[in-house]
Amino acid sequence: MSPTTEKNVKIAVRGLKKSFGANEVLKGIDVDIAEGEVVCVIGPSGSGKSTFLRCLNKLEDITAGSVTVNGFDLTEPKVDLNAVRQNIGMVFQHFNLFPHMSVIQNIMLAPVELKKKDKPGAREQAMELLRRVGLAEKADARPASLSGGQKQRVAIARALAMNPGIMLFDEATSALDPEMVGEVLQVIRDLAAEGMTMVVVTHEMGFAREVADRVIFMDGGVICEQGRPEDVFGNPQQPRLQDFLAKVL
Ligand code: ADP
Ligand code: MG
Repeated sequence: MSPTTEKNVKIAVRGLKKSFGANEVLKGIDVDIAEGEVVCVIGPSGSGKSTFLRCLNKLEDITAGSVTVNGFDLTEPKVDLNAVRQNIGMVFQHFNLFPHMSVIQNIMLAPVELKKKDKPGAREQAMELLRRVGLAEKADARPASLSGGQKQRVAIARALAMNPGIMLFDEATSALDPEMVGEVLQVIRDLAAEGMTMVVVTHEMGFAREVADRVIFMDGGVICEQGRPEDVFGNPQQPRLQDFLAKVL
């Protein structure tokens, strides 16, 4: 657990491999993600995007290689995974809000239970987060009464309540009706503008092109191509990326 000396690197992935049984899903990933960088990950279904993201906070056991986050090597047996995970917010395709709690209770839960934050302080911070995602008036509503886009914005606010230094998004807009995609992307866009370090798996190519500092194209468990969005989308080199873009653009 030695802090990294490269102060700018938030996430360092080296030779990452992940197998499920005989199925090698990640075949050796090497990537550094810098503080404040917004990395969008694109690629066909089944290419290992979600598995890669889940390895970044060790929701998956790592078969080989290493993942270092904020200087902590997640593959070291003694690493404090809870401490590492508290600094990484994750938002999934499905919102997983607690249905029996109000919106604000959903957001206050982790700071109160995990960080032992006092309730008035947690409530104040939760209200501030709800204002940020444009949902202050929904504080006392139940999740069931919200639209999909509103639920996903609450899920983002809930992740931000732990004050993470890194946010991971796994197809956060894929389950939404089209008219709700924009409001969720706007929240992610605002986070990017505020300098949040983010890894965003997305099917929204326009969004990736606009917001990403770097786009990573995964195919078959490897990073097939990566670069600035204008290069990846405007001048793709690998035939597999050219084929993929021809299908999705
Ligand atoms: P993507 O997010 O790019 O669609 P995934 O990372 O979800 O890809 O999946 C990559 C491959 O890993 C798929 O073949 C999938 O079936 C397999 N896989 C993912 N999770 C598991 C799991 N928990 N058990 C077994 N196989 C899995
Ligand atoms: Mg996926």
